[in-house]
Amino acid sequence: MSMGNKDNNVLSCLISELSKLPGLGERSAERLSFHILKMSKEARQNLTQSILSLNEVKLCNKCFNIVSNNSLGLCEICNNDSRDKSIICVVEQLEDLWKIEKTGVYKGLYHVLGGVISPLEGKSAEDITLKQLILRVKSARPSEIILSTNPTVEGDTTLLYIQKELSWAGLKNIKITRLGRGLPSGTTIEYLNRPILVDALKERKEQVL
Ligand SMILES: [Zn+2]
Repeated sequence: MSMGNKDNNVLSCLISELSKLPGLGERSAERLSFHILKMSKEARQNLTQSILSLNEVKLCNKCFNIVSNNSLGLCEICNNDSRDKSIICVVEQLEDLWKIEKTGVYKGLYHVLGGVISPLEGKSAEDITLKQLILRVKSARPSEIILSTNPTVEGDTTLLYIQKELSWAGLKNIKITRLGRGLPSGTTIEYLNRPILVDALKERKEQVL
């Protein structure tokens, strides 16, 4: 039995798509493709279905976390009555929320900015959910806002900008904190190990507006 061109194309198509993923070179993409080819039909269907389900994902009306199958448009965290609604942890992206959530020590709410302010890349405050954050803080009046942007140049720029906006909005009576010691400069929350992140959350420092 010889493999015709068409059969080869099916595989090279998959290899080419997988090799576009971060961290996967062509060799890893090949290995994965052959693995997927050998999987049972059921396992393959589960894999494709879970990828296709991502098409249904929407963003939470309040915090911009992902939300699926919810007519109210709120995510599981915003909808959970046992969460402490007086604290909002502001993160750059969904990955950071995910990481902090996995520590299991944080019980407040989140706000996902969806990026950072980066003049070099032409990203301004308009490109993140900052306006929504200010509006939310004005109406919800939390007692604390934890600014958990990454300790990078862009993260710090964004943090200072948010602090200024909060101050201009007359929200001075709200406690503003940032993640505490242990966060090496230049690293991102996404790649921190749990103990360091737990420490940083517990030992957060108050910021003066
Ligand atoms: Zn939410």
